[in-house]
Amino acid sequence: MFNPQLKGSLNVPAPKMERLGTEWVLIRVETLHGMMEEVEKILGSGAALVWYTAGKGAGRSLAHMIKKTMDTSDLLRVSRFIVGFYGNCGWGRGEIVSWRPEKGEFIFQVWDNVFAKKDSSNTSSCYFLKGFIEGVLEELIGRRVRTEETKCISKGDECCEFSIIVK
Ligand SMILES: [Zn+2]
Repeated sequence: MFNPQLKGSLNVPAPKMERLGTEWVLIRVETLHGMMEEVEKILGSGAALVWYTAGKGAGRSLAHMIKKTMDTSDLLRVSRFIVGFYGNCGWGRGEIVSWRPEKGEFIFQVWDNVFAKKDSSNTSSCYFLKGFIEGVLEELIGRRVRTEETKCISKGDECCEFSIIVK
């Protein structure tokens, strides 16, 4: 039976959502968490590799789109675009807290990270985002990137924090 409270709330003006010249989908946060929980039920700790790999592919895909639409020679400008883009997608509020390109070291925080369920784990667990950061940066700069999630909302920290090293 149709719930009248939903009337109009899913009003999509066109059959396809387009932004930045490409198609998009919208999913509920609960749907995302449900997907992650079901994969973890089947694969256990192996789910981390699945989400890390998926994130890496998503990051590479975004980098391909960025390369088509903007000059990527200024990494700080591109990184700020990605942080803004990330926020506009509702994934969380990103902040670049340390920028040391001469050492290839960066620290990035995400507040209200949609991929993290508060106090759901005793370890950092944002594998999708870890892969996403590595994928987007590797594709943009053509070098290996390694990240470590040093803080995570899932284990009780106030934000998720990623230490990024360019090899
Ligand atoms: Zn996290």
